[in-house]
Parts: sequence; structure tokens; C-alpha cells
Amino acid sequence: MKVAFFTLGCKVNQYETEAMEEMFKKRGYEVVSFEDEADIYIINTCTVTNLGDRKSRQFIRRAKKLNEDSIVAAVGCYSQIAPEEVEQIEGVDVIIGTTDKDRIVDLCEEAREKNKKINVVKNIKYHKEFDKLSIDTIESRTRAYMKIQDGCNQFCSYCIIPYARGPIRSRRLEDILVEAEKLAKASFKEIVLTGIHVASYGKDLKNVDLLDIIEEVSRIEGIERIRLSSIEPTFIDERFMEKVTDNKKFCDHFHLSLQSGSNGVLQRMNRKYTTEEYRNIVHMIRRYMPEAGITTDIIVGFPGETEEEFQETCNFVKDIGFSRIHVFKYSPRKGTPASKLENQVHGSIKNERSDRLIRIGNQVANRFMEGFIGKKMEVLFEEEKEGYFEGYTTNYLRVKAKTDEDVHGKILPVKIVTKEDDILIGQMQDF
Ligand code: SF4
Repeated sequence: MKVAFFTLGCKVNQYETEAMEEMFKKRGYEVVSFEDEADIYIINTCTVTNLGDRKSRQFIRRAKKLNEDSIVAAVGCYSQIAPEEVEQIEGVDVIIGTTDKDRIVDLCEEAREKNKKINVVKNIKYHKEFDKLSIDTIESRTRAYMKIQDGCNQFCSYCIIPYARGPIRSRRLEDILVEAEKLAKASFKEIVLTGIHVASYGKDLKNVDLLDIIEEVSRIEGIERIRLSSIEPTFIDERFMEKVTDNKKFCDHFHLSLQSGSNGVLQRMNRKYTTEEYRNIVHMIRRYMPEAGITTDIIVGFPGETEEEFQETCNFVKDIGFSRIHVFKYSPRKGTPASKLENQVHGSIKNERSDRLIRIGNQVANRFMEGFIGKKMEVLFEEEKEGYFEGYTTNYLRVKAKTDEDVHGKILPVKIVTKEDDILIGQMQDF
């Protein structure tokens, strides 16, 4: 029997797809690519924007067209937010929300045996249990994402995720260590701790927090690097910085979502910090880790955003000197408080502001990268392309270097000699 997956959305969704793939393989299924003919199609949906919903529907319909006798399962965030809507989509057989993904094989087989539609989406508002998904083996990669946390209690006014993923839930330390051991045995050098709101790790458990996970995982032999996929700015304090600075395996890269550089907009977004507090946190990080890479997400065109407020964001980005920024145009998301706000910004203004901020973002990113020309940096090489090996530094800069050796999966020193677009060119050092 053949099964095919299509995954939309974030790293957590990708992790969960890998875990579901493994469950099917253990039951004797062959995993084939989505465009191939399969007996079962799984669409791991996303609902972070209206576009996410639309794309999810497209791939659900496409699956049935690829094989009308197949079982099609729509799982994840879109199914959780709009189960009735998903159930109406022609060709869908199994509807699973953001819990019960560990029952995917049984539910698909039940739908086939009983030839009936199965919808197991339930209210997630009070869901307390971290799901039982885990990964034993991941094919030939150097960096592994590991899901340690789910849910979010922040309720930023533009965000649907707390309604889709439910309240915060943390994975047990023992389970995390078992999986990290397996990844180390599978020769992974770098683990990226990921979740919906990683900073909330442990808040629902007793006597364990994110620092404990970083410490414990860094004790595992074979794991050379620990990276955080993203972290809430307000979570970072002196104690955290002292601890991670002493930890030689902790990567000096912080993805600190800013969302806006204007206090007025941050307030309307229900974000939990001001620009002054954010700036102080960045300064604190740089006091401990002067070469840290700080990346961020920014939304332009949030309801009511004036030209002055947008200008504040542009100036703030220049001031902070991010190593990379990701710019998103605000899109009203049904069911969120912000979608009901007056003064929605016109699409043409959003486009224009997005272009302007992306240009500024590239300028600050280039300046940050150029600061490393002439320096020696350690790179974890991941792939070979046109005679070069490419990989990332600890502060998340992409580097390529020429070598005849197969250095896939190795962490090696290179001297940065120049820059080409968004990649640094390195020279291999003797090793
Ligand atoms: S922190 Fe805010 S933006 Fe992030 S998932 Fe939670 S509600 Fe959404």
C-alpha cells in the first residue's frame, strides 16, 4: 500500500509529517511523493493565513484527482479551525485536527474498511496532553528539528494559532532525551528545538524549563550544536544569557519576532513588549554574544498603521541591525480580534511598504554579513552544489566553500573571503 503526504506551514507541521510517515512505514506502507498514485493521501494543513486555507483545500481536491479510489485525510490546523468546512470539501474522507495525529493510520484504514467519512476534530481549548508523536529515524540530514512544545497562550490580536493549536503543552524531558539520543546515533550534529511557543516550555510542567532541555541535550555525545527555532523576546534575561553563553554547543542565533517597530502598533497587536524593551534585550544578547545573529519577522500594513508608525519600524530595523528580516503583509484572519478592527490598510499600501522594508532588510543583512569578511568561522556543511559545499555558521549565516573532500555533515573552520548575494564565500582551513 502506498501513502503520500503534502505539508503546508511551519517546522512543527513538518516534524509532525515526518512522525506520521514513520507510523505508516512501521505498518508496512511505502511513502511515495505527492504527485504519484497512492492509496492514501495526507494533507497536513495550515491556517495561519487565508492563503493557507485556500492552498489546503487545493491539495485536498488534487489528491482525489490523483486517485479517486484513495483515502484522503485532511489533518492539522485548518481542519481544527473549520472542521465543517473541510468536511464539505469533495473527496475528503478523514478529518483530524491538531490532536489525534498519532491515530492517523487506524483512522484511514477504518475509513476504507467502513467506506465512511470520519471526523474526529474536538474542542482543543482545554487540551492538556502533549501528543505522542515522535521520530526514530530521519533520512540523511545534518540538522534535525525536534518538537518539544505545542500550543500558545499569548493571543496576539492578528493570530489564529492559539485557536488552532490550543493551550501550551510541553513534552516530557525523558521523551526529548530519548529522541535526541536517537538523532545523535543517526549522526545528526545539530538539533533545532522547535514548537509553537518555545519560550513557554515547561510552564505547564513542574521543575523543568527550556534551559534544562538545552543543558541536558547538550550533554549527549555526538550533538555538537543546539539551536532554537524562535524565542519570545521577553523570555530572555541575564540568567538565560549567562547559562547559554557558558554552553559551547548553544548556537548564537536568536529568532526574535518583532512584528512591528512602533509601540502603537505593538499595543494593537497585543504583543507583550515595547520597542525599548526589545532593544534592551538585543543589547543584552550582544553583551554576551557580540557576533550573535538576530533574525526576525515583521508584519506591515497592520490595521490603522500610519505612515509615521511604518517609518518608526523602518528606523528601528536600521537601528537594531538584524542579520535577516522576514516581511509579511498583514492579512485579516477570520476569527481573530484584529480582523474586526476598523482602518484596514489598502493592499497597494501594504505592497509598497513591504517592498520598502525588504530593501532596508537587505541593506542591514548585507552590512551584518560583510562584518565577517576576513574572519574564521565554523560551518556545518550540509550539501554540495556546483563543486562547493554549503552550510550554516552558528549565528545562522550561509557559507559555501570549495573542496574536493566530502565534508557533508562535518563542522569545519573556514576563512570568510567575500560575499555573493546572500551567501558568504569561505576558504577551507587546514583541518
Ligand atoms: S506568540 Fe502570538 S504570533 Fe506567536 S503563535 Fe502565539 S499568538 Fe501567534
